[in-house]
Amino acid sequence: MLRLTELRLPIDHPPEALRPAILRRLRLREGELVDFTIARRGYDARKKNLIQFVYTLDLELRDEASVRGRNPGDRNLGTAPDTGYRHVARAPEGFRNRPVVIGAGPCGLTAGLILAQMGFRPIILERGKVVRERTKDTWALWRRSVLTPESNVQFGEGGAGTFSDGKLWSGIKDPQHLGRKVMEEFVKAGAPEEILYVSKPHIGTFRLVSMVEHMRRTVEKLGGEYRFGARVEGLDVETGADGTRRMRGLHLAEGEYLAADHVVLAIGHSARDTFAALERDGVFLEAKPFSIGVRIEHPQSLIDRARLGPHAGNPLLGAADYKLVHHATNGRAVYSFCMCPGGTVVAAASEPGRLVTNGMSQYSRAERNANAGIVVSISPEDYPGGPLAGIEFQRHWEERAFVAGGGTYAAPAQRVGDFLAGRASTELGQVVPSYKPGVTPTDLATCLPDFAVAAIREALPQFDRQIRGFAMADAVMTGVETRTSSPLRITRGDDFQSLNTVGLFPAGEGAGYAGGILSAGVDGIRVAEAVGIAMLGAQQLQ
Ligand code: FAD
Repeated sequence: MLRLTELRLPIDHPPEALRPAILRRLRLREGELVDFTIARRGYDARKKNLIQFVYTLDLELRDEASVRGRNPGDRNLGTAPDTGYRHVARAPEGFRNRPVVIGAGPCGLTAGLILAQMGFRPIILERGKVVRERTKDTWALWRRSVLTPESNVQFGEGGAGTFSDGKLWSGIKDPQHLGRKVMEEFVKAGAPEEILYVSKPHIGTFRLVSMVEHMRRTVEKLGGEYRFGARVEGLDVETGADGTRRMRGLHLAEGEYLAADHVVLAIGHSARDTFAALERDGVFLEAKPFSIGVRIEHPQSLIDRARLGPHAGNPLLGAADYKLVHHATNGRAVYSFCMCPGGTVVAAASEPGRLVTNGMSQYSRAERNANAGIVVSISPEDYPGGPLAGIEFQRHWEERAFVAGGGTYAAPAQRVGDFLAGRASTELGQVVPSYKPGVTPTDLATCLPDFAVAAIREALPQFDRQIRGFAMADAVMTGVETRTSSPLRITRGDDFQSLNTVGLFPAGEGAGYAGGILSAGVDGIRVAEAVGIAMLGAQQLQ
């Protein structure tokens, strides 16, 4: 199979135009091209009057050597990579030992699925509820200001990404094409096929809910088991005569004990109580950098015009996105985070008395506003005091935001014009904020460290140079955005096990090894493979 890259066609081309375009491009006669598949489709919007789709295509040819011979030195023609996935291990018939996966987010779900496919019959422990029940609890915060600490945007089946934009791209290095395996499993579970080839795929929140249920049924059919409302509160670690610490079991809520010597720890970045329990149980943890800031909203039409010019609003291109970075004079990087075209800002708190924002959208991305986090990099020097100090830092600013919003889970909000002028907002303008259960106009500078306020004030006019209107006075900012990534790392070695606890496999975003749905899924595969290999090795030693 050969791969052809950089084949460009006008965005309004009919689907049947692709085949003749390939024939022309490679000087092929009709019968020479047996078949082709689209490996990737992006668009190039650098010239606003000439936006084009750019294709990567895998070609089945009657005679590859002859086509290569006719196109010598063509840098856009090469061998198509083998992206097929092969399991690295297989549990022998009657294998009794079962791995345990903590957390049913994208990482835990994918790890559980791969372990089930390999025949290991994993037990998946999830502190929250099944996704339909969880949806009701999440809506209760958005509609009635009622927060359920164990069932919300962060906790429950599907993990943090369930009520999201469902963006599925990532900048991770992926030489084994594990991202492709994640996407294929998502398609089997009901995601649209296009996620396999469009350059910035997304699913939207509704489909994610049914996909997560589908994945659960698949794992169960393969002999896996889910337990909901099963919060892990501590580890049972045995220390051998040589000082080696080994996993032996888990202490669950309600005093239950579960024997377990191979445990995937995929708890996400908001399981603060679990992080504290891990520290208490002596697991190696270290503080890591993350970011803090606000969410900003503009009319989507403004972003579309700036990014797509005369093609703004073209349904073939969809709602436009953006990615912005500014290096501020105080040494901080300010950047856009988790941009949601045509979406809404969501209440993403998981602890009473604390307020957090994030963003989501439906598949259609048809809401009036575009939103994104505008966040500032911070590092452990900003919150000295050990591995859990970043959590206290987050809590401090989340509490400030809760108070500034009026103590009801309404978010503090400010017009960009007022923020730049250093005065509190008393009312909002033409951009209607989408955050539910509502916003309180105020001064966001009270909810962020001074260095972050200064850096964002410097960045917004710079961003306006790239997206005209970005610093419009009536754009709305809501705060605070604190859960950009995990504030700590549960460090692991080359064997994917905790640096000081054999049998504990830290994984995903909470452990500091992923940032987003796709990378969490990829990490889930890597860790599941490591668990499978370790379990078979352990059996041979017995
Ligand atoms: P999580 O998804 O956080 O899952 C961890 C799970 O572990 C949770 O279900 C939790 O309940 C469970 N758990 C925690 N502690 C315990 C315990 N002690 N016992 C048992 N279970 C426990 N990323 C994208 O790539 N694209 C997006 O569009 C996107 N949008 C987002 C929108 C929102 C509103 C949010 C909050 C996040 C968004 N993200 C997005 C980020 C993405 O959701 C995360 O990166 C991803 O979910 C991390 O996966 P994970 O499996 O590592 O952790």
